[in-house]
Amino acid sequence: MRTLIIGGGLSGLALASALEADGHDYILVEARDRFGGRIMTERYGSGYYDMGPAWFWPGQPRIAALIAKLELEKFDQYSKGIQMVEDERGHVHRGRGFASMEGSWRLKGGLDQLTHCLAERLPAMRKRLNAHVAKLAKTDDAITAKLIDSDTVSADRVVLALPPRVAARIDFVPSLPSDAMHAMQGIATWMAGHAKALAVYDRPIWREAGLSGDAVSHIGPMVEVHDASPAEGGPFALFGFVGVPPEGRADAQVLRQNILAQLGHLFGPEASEPQKLYLKDWAFDPHTATDADAKPLYAHPTYGMPRAMTGLWDGKLHFAGTEVAPQFGGYIEGALEAAENVLKI
Ligand SMILES: Cc1cc2nc3c(=O)[nH]c(=O)nc-3n(C[C@H](O)[C@H](O)[C@H](O)COP(=O)(O)OP(=O)(O)OC[C@H]3O[C@@H](n4cnc5c(N)ncnc54)[C@H](O)[C@@H]3O)c2cc1C
Repeated sequence: MRTLIIGGGLSGLALASALEADGHDYILVEARDRFGGRIMTERYGSGYYDMGPAWFWPGQPRIAALIAKLELEKFDQYSKGIQMVEDERGHVHRGRGFASMEGSWRLKGGLDQLTHCLAERLPAMRKRLNAHVAKLAKTDDAITAKLIDSDTVSADRVVLALPPRVAARIDFVPSLPSDAMHAMQGIATWMAGHAKALAVYDRPIWREAGLSGDAVSHIGPMVEVHDASPAEGGPFALFGFVGVPPEGRADAQVLRQNILAQLGHLFGPEASEPQKLYLKDWAFDPHTATDADAKPLYAHPTYGMPRAMTGLWDGKLHFAGTEVAPQFGGYIEGALEAAENVLKI
């Protein structure tokens, strides 16, 4: 039985790896020109900077096991020193707030080591990049995926390892029941409406001043800032979640200027002149976000597998992806949990 896995993020890659290990017939197709999905790491000099997820936590057994299996190493989120709060009037208060991510872990080499290592180990004939599935058609014999470049891939069953809202944009023939489509569109994609800014410096100017790099701001544009430096050495970095909603972020140039000004205001004039400023706006990335994600979520929803999304197409159409994970939905741990659950079907 051939399985077509649509989506080469952590969930799709983990599922493909498990099928590979068990000697199954499968093919993994990914729309982007890289694997990893929301896991994305920029590199500058010897530094690595996570522009999607950066953290994982104690009590997440699947990530811990995967890191051990791939012989990768974790390190503690930097949180030594003074925290800051920028109030509504722009006044900066040192020694207020708390290091909200203290105790979180990061991955040496960047979180994309996870997805890079998994993808590397899959045989070339089992994985395809630049393969955006636009249509899925089911007949009695097979399910055929039509790619955007009009190539086709056929399989006996399909696993949608992508955010359900993004999957809902695929043209399903025959149509899926309306309660299934409704359920898919109703599941908010975790962090899809967010943007991350990351500034790279040759010196850790905030650490030199006794600051941890943690700041909370009530005026923005960044509402939460943390140290994002590599485990050892530089280049050093600060990153922030942009709090301005997507409609106010359309002019990236203006946003960048405002971010630089805020960094200078918080951490001193030198901080407004980083070597490099990365900005990744996930809300404008169609492989992650839909129009429905224009209102970013600020609280973690309850995820899991809605009943309406089970048993579709005679039990040949399944969902993976973190948003359907019952226990760790939204997190990278959930991406692994959801892949694991498909293996139980
Ligand atoms: C800014 C940000 C910060 C985050 N921080 C954290 C964190 O610190 N810790 C944490 O645990 N989690 C965090 N997350 C969430 C984490 O990124 C996700 O839980 C995880 O990466 C989801 O993996 P996935 O494989 O389920 O989905 P995805 O990574 O979204 O993978 C889906 C894949 O499907 C592909 N695809 C889409 N449409 C098609 C199509 N039609 N045809 C073929 N392929 C398609 C996409 O290109 C993508 O590669 C964060 C996310 C963001 C955006």
